[in-house]
Amino acid sequence: ALAPSKQQETMELRAMISLLLLLLLGLSMAHPDISCFGLTLSWYLFSFIPLGSTDFLIEGDVLIPRTRSAMRCFSKTFSCLWSKSANGKVEIPFIINSKYDTHEKNEILNAMKDFHSKTCIRFVPRVKQRMYISFEPRYGCFSSLGRLGDKQVVSLQRFGCVRHGIIQHELLHALGFYHEHTRSDRDQYVRINWEYVKQYYVHNFQKKDSNNLNTPYDYSSVMHYGRTAFASQFGKETITPIPDPSVPIGQRQGMSDIDIRRINTLYKCCK
Ligand SMILES: [Zn+2]
Repeated sequence: ALAPSKQQETMELRAMISLLLLLLLGLSMAHPDISCFGLTLSWYLFSFIPLGSTDFLIEGDVLIPRTRSAMRCFSKTFSCLWSKSANGKVEIPFIINSKYDTHEKNEILNAMKDFHSKTCIRFVPRVKQRMYISFEPRYGCFSSLGRLGDKQVVSLQRFGCVRHGIIQHELLHALGFYHEHTRSDRDQYVRINWEYVKQYYVHNFQKKDSNNLNTPYDYSSVMHYGRTAFASQFGKETITPIPDPSVPIGQRQGMSDIDIRRINTLYKCCK
């Protein structure tokens, strides 16, 4: 028998990926298990995005600054949130860069499944929508905050960022969520050890004028930094939980229950 040509192989691979993608999306839509526990546990949204704000890589010690135009967020006609379709779902188109291998693509699709099964967010393969997320293997893991209004990159560097919790972390940024340890009320829950924060990264620890709306501070949020993030000396703590310093922080397994509830409240998934 003739060996299949390279082109045929590629086409088959593509077909397989498309099929898998459809399957995954289909499966996840079949399980509407939205966790809405009323309004007592609600969300926080940054009431503004500072001018010249950057977005951050959080894993390891690499920071990827990315200038983002904040002005569009102040516009009355433009929202930083993704909009809801008539079917009540918030559809967010995406494309996945072809540099990722099948395993990595599946990891990305899998990370999106939790959003599908637990919230009204639906990541849908892009057809020709103007606003969409492009997963690309750039240098580091980073994302813009909220919806930009055009193509926006979620960078997941290969061999480091293509992991369940990190992917969800970056997608939460794209949905409009900031880092947990920068909440306006964080000083009641964590102590920032400024003396050990690398000078260049000080801005990563600055408090935000967040609207917390009685949301509990969540040490287990996938949006919380780890305790030695951006330390000037190896192993020194930049963030210490208070009053109990032994509380675990900085998990990157996946979204916490509160992370999920915040999405549902912010995007009014239960209405
Ligand atoms: Zn982040």
